[in-house]
Amino acid sequence: MKIESNIPAGPLESKWTQYKSKVPLVSPANKRKLDVIVVGSGLAGASAAASLGELGYNVSCFTFHDSPRRAHSIAAQGGINAAKNYMNDGDSVYRLFYDTIKGGDYRAREANVYRLAEVSAAIIDQAVAQGVPFAREYGGLLENRSFGGVQVSRTFYARGQTGQQLLIGAYQSLSRQIGLGNVKMYNRHEMLELVLVDGKAKGIIVRNLITGKIQRFGAHCVVLATGGYGNVFYLSTNAMGCNTTAIWKAVKKGAFMGNPCYTQIHPTCIPVSGDYQSKLTLMSESLRNDGRVWVPAKKEDAEAIRQGKKMANDIAESDRDYFLERRYPAFGNLVPRDVASRAAKVECDKGLGVSPTGLAVYLDFGAAIRRYGKSKANVLGLHEPDEKTIVRLGEEVVSEKYGNLFEMYEKITGENPYHTPMKIYPAVHYTMGGLWVDYNLETNIPGLFAIGEANFSDHGANRLGASALMQGLADGYFVLPYTIGNYLSAEIRSPKVDTTHPAFDEAESKVSQQIQQLLNIKGKQSVESFHRRLGKIMWDHCGMARNEEGLKQARQAIRALREEFWKDVYVPGKAGEFNPEIEKAGRVMDFMELGELMVVDALHRRESCGGHFREEYQTEEGETLRDDQEFNYVAAWQWTDLNKDPELFKEKLEYEFVKIASRSYK
Ligand SMILES: Cc1cc2nc3c(=O)[nH]c(=O)nc-3n(C[C@H](O)[C@H](O)[C@H](O)COP(=O)(O)OP(=O)(O)OC[C@H]3O[C@@H](n4cnc5c(N)ncnc54)[C@H](O)[C@@H]3O)c2cc1C
Repeated sequence: MKIESNIPAGPLESKWTQYKSKVPLVSPANKRKLDVIVVGSGLAGASAAASLGELGYNVSCFTFHDSPRRAHSIAAQGGINAAKNYMNDGDSVYRLFYDTIKGGDYRAREANVYRLAEVSAAIIDQAVAQGVPFAREYGGLLENRSFGGVQVSRTFYARGQTGQQLLIGAYQSLSRQIGLGNVKMYNRHEMLELVLVDGKAKGIIVRNLITGKIQRFGAHCVVLATGGYGNVFYLSTNAMGCNTTAIWKAVKKGAFMGNPCYTQIHPTCIPVSGDYQSKLTLMSESLRNDGRVWVPAKKEDAEAIRQGKKMANDIAESDRDYFLERRYPAFGNLVPRDVASRAAKVECDKGLGVSPTGLAVYLDFGAAIRRYGKSKANVLGLHEPDEKTIVRLGEEVVSEKYGNLFEMYEKITGENPYHTPMKIYPAVHYTMGGLWVDYNLETNIPGLFAIGEANFSDHGANRLGASALMQGLADGYFVLPYTIGNYLSAEIRSPKVDTTHPAFDEAESKVSQQIQQLLNIKGKQSVESFHRRLGKIMWDHCGMARNEEGLKQARQAIRALREEFWKDVYVPGKAGEFNPEIEKAGRVMDFMELGELMVVDALHRRESCGGHFREEYQTEEGETLRDDQEFNYVAAWQWTDLNKDPELFKEKLEYEFVKIASRSYK
């Protein structure tokens, strides 16, 4: 099978404009006859469902949450990128495009990334029109800050709650369409199967999570906006409910899974503190605008800190190693996440970690507090302020910028980050892999679309900070509303989908049987315990650093764990009732299959790129070593059978406009 990305011909800058001018349209009268299912109501799903409803399609939108506002998107903290160049610091659509391609270690599709950069500015206008309260500077313009991997300030933000504010904006638009009757919202419904009729996506099977009832829904096409699968690692910064089930069911129906092993490990998270922790907390990348990352330069100081004999503030300036500034002078503390994470690991591996576990480095605001304090004193006309005043004023400025993040840190750790540096360590945060989609955001299954974090597109092997919100909203507000017409214009003669079709019977009975099978095992171990063990295998062998031997071991270990699961898992309760353990069991079952595919993907990619760091392939300085001859492609995997190897299809990445180079932030 040939894998076809359907990228329009022509110059990079005009591909999307040309596409939009020529894409077949669906007339308003026909739109009213066409049904669209959107699964997911996070930023990608809510924006898509609202936009498609506004266009006149009949939309049914599903979420397992009790409200669209509970989607994981609400957790997004630091901001959203857009090439507005409000700071007049040299930004442009091209620069955002280029930064994203380079940030992704030259493993993303040029045409998609350029389109993303192109529509980025419109997202901000849309959000402002909805009333999203972005931070503003004194003159009234929207304020910007920097994120990793860039040298301009293009990140729009609403304190550390950008996702929440954007989601409320998207939810308002969605609610309007619900009110008008264009969108029917199904909260607390979980998609458990995809239905194909004559090879096309025509519906889904869902479980009503309140009653346990299994239901079927048909439509002319299905859009999956179901988020990322970082929770395959058990411990991650993702919301607890994030899972892979929807996209995994699509994979098992023949959809390609793109680059499954590309996982983002975020450098600034609150470190793991014990064996029974079930969640990790992000400290936004925005903090690296002002926070300086360091470890003690001397091992004996690190040891004394770990034993509680010394504190961070006891270490003299000359005995600190600001290792990101030292190794990457051009980008300093704002190197991309994969680079910063690996650098922190290197220091901890050397024995310089600063928490009792040895797995933490400092993120220090001391210098920023003093810098801002002096500047604020100047503004207030205090020409020779004393130390106390400088610190007080500086803390006020820092609090305005990052107050809620500092509060969150203090609540969780009991330490005041204004007075002592934060301790941070990398943690799983985002999955660049996802369902393979073409330029239309359509998978290889006709009529099945994937948007937001659920697809693989745009970020290559590493996502730059503040680009996920940009992509999810670009997909939902501005891209899918055009590209879906390309498919639906050919569906206008298709009647309403008949959910009594045998394909629905088969899919529904498969779902019911699987649930019953899980309940019947009546083993001794909890679902949670299997999830935790899977996460450990994934983190140890397919996490921040991977190697051939470890990956091979991981594959065996996952298979053995899966076997044990099917013999000894205990799922309490019954099927036809509210039963969160059934929900969890289904998700962990899917994670165990996906985990193996991630390992297979990581094993086959004998190079290092972005978040995929194979220890065997690194430069003398410990940087990623790509192999552009062999691996300059998207790995699109097709599922075969549990005990067989998946089949690999390669989408070659053609770089027509950017010259591939080794990625340097020095
Ligand atoms: C702590 C944290 C902070 C972040 N901060 C930023 C930031 O500042 N800037 C940035 O750009 N990115 C950030 N990100 C990343 C960003 O938040 C996510 O990538 C993005 O919000 C994903 O949006 P989404 O709409 O694709 O998915 P989600 O928001 O995860 O939504 C998924 C939706 O799908 C539904 N769903 C899933 N499976 C099913 C199913 N089987 N049946 C029914 N419904 C289903 C869920 O109920 C939900 O409605 C952050 C991520 C984390 C973890």
